[in-house]
Amino acid sequence: MAYDVEKPDEQWRAELSPGEYAVLRKAATEPAFTGEYTDTKTRGVYSCRACGADLFTSETKFESHCGWPSFFDPKDTDAVELIEDRSHGMVRTEVRCARCGSHLGHVFAGEGYPTPTDQRYCINSIALRLAPEQG
Ligand SMILES: [Zn+2]
Repeated sequence: MAYDVEKPDEQWRAELSPGEYAVLRKAATEPAFTGEYTDTKTRGVYSCRACGADLFTSETKFESHCGWPSFFDPKDTDAVELIEDRSHGMVRTEVRCARCGSHLGHVFAGEGYPTPTDQRYCINSIALRLAPEQG
């Protein structure tokens, strides 16, 4: 599919840090419990670090204890794109930014978390940038 924001690979590589590039453009996963937003409770909006699209808010962030920032719903349904991922011998659902196609993480369902959706958007901190709420 075509994304609103598309750039040649060399440009992404130049604009992003090596760690950001590996996750956002090469679907790497940051090590558990190392991301800057894992335990963040600051109120605000999380946007895509590659293109700046608003993706998640602190309103739907919850403590999953899984080692990555976890949300039970995206900010808007069409802010993210869900894609079946059969890598690593598993069937998972990949979560991408719908505006630029960058990899964000995976979404899991039916794990029994006490949230309204019973879904866990397990997102790499390095794929996000938090804009704290003003005032
Ligand atoms: Zn994006």
